Amino acid sequence: MIRMVCPTCKKAAPDSMAYRCPDCGEPFELEFEARFPIDKIRKRKANLWRYREAIPIESDENIVSFEEGFTPLLKFDIRGHPVWVKQDHLFPSGSYKDRGASVLISYVRSMRIENVVEDSSGNAGCSIAMYATAAGIECEVFVPQVTSPAKMEQARMLGARLRKIPGSRQETAQAVLEEAKRAYYASHVYNPYFLQGTKTLAYEIVEQMEWTAPDSLILPIGNGTLLLGVYNGFKDLIQAGIIHKMPKLIGIQTESCNPLASAWEQQSAKPISIVLQPTVAEGIAIAQPVHGKHILSVVRETGGALLSVTEEAILRNWREMAKKGFFMELTSATAFAGIERVFESESRPEGTTVSLITGHGLKSIGHF
Ligand SMILES: *Cc1c(COP(=O)(O)O)cnc(C)c1O
Ligand SMILES: [Zn+2]
Repeated sequence: MIRMVCPTCKKAAPDSMAYRCPDCGEPFELEFEARFPIDKIRKRKANLWRYREAIPIESDENIVSFEEGFTPLLKFDIRGHPVWVKQDHLFPSGSYKDRGASVLISYVRSMRIENVVEDSSGNAGCSIAMYATAAGIECEVFVPQVTSPAKMEQARMLGARLRKIPGSRQETAQAVLEEAKRAYYASHVYNPYFLQGTKTLAYEIVEQMEWTAPDSLILPIGNGTLLLGVYNGFKDLIQAGIIHKMPKLIGIQTESCNPLASAWEQQSAKPISIVLQPTVAEGIAIAQPVHGKHILSVVRETGGALLSVTEEAILRNWREMAKKGFFMELTSATAFAGIERVFESESRPEGTTVSLITGHGLKSIGHF
């Protein structure tokens, strides 16, 4: 049984078009029991659909997949500390967003929906466009006018109609809501099926570490689709009795846009309203994170932290990582600036630390 419910008032979604709770405005969550038949999983192909019993898509016929996922997990020396780095820039569209888009568009196909709209700072739009076109679904993507040219070209080549919206990412999010009355809102932020895909990052890390959990994870964070996804993923594995502890989740923001890290510092239970400054980390320039309260409580529960790093540190780590052969998009370097900050602080993480490269360097063309 798969149920879409409001986490706050526990009411079921009124219909399949509702993208958030009509009573309290919260995004819906999915109630579904993930199962892990390890012997079967081990024999399957190396992609994220190997966790078939943990992904709430009922019929195989509806799966839209490029056999994505199961990206390499490389042990790597970062500033004298061993860090395991997931290579999620190696997804077919060049970012980890394919995890979520594969599952979300499979759901859209199962509902026989033929038109979707999405808003994105770039990568989610490219991912949704790619899976939609593969499934024969019409796709319109709203992006801020200032989005990287490489991402806009990519989404357009993948068949999306592009709508460039002047102003900030927030204004793009406003603009799409009008369209969402007409077409299905395949939102990577609101739609709970997207998180059902990003959670596979946790499954892969655990399987690649011989079915054990790392001690901490260091991730860039904007809307938190990655952080909440891995949290849900680790929780599934704990509930199934496969791992026995929740890793500390450490989310990294840029100082130019840090509503969550500021809230963390001020011990606020909800995001702080900030004035967005120009940033090289466009993928996480989210001034008003929809899941903000939930993220703050989840990070606290895991014993993690939310921190910010300077633009200078992001650029420097981006260049240094490229010199070592890791060519990532600028946004992704935020995690490595975070690793630097975390390991230089007094509360340096003990045990095994995992991070990831969220997007490919070719996404940042125009910044070199
Ligand atoms: C989307 C994205 C992130 C952050 O993801 P959130 O879900 O918004 O927290 C990080 N890096 C890249 C390259 C992205 O595209
Ligand atoms: Zn509600």
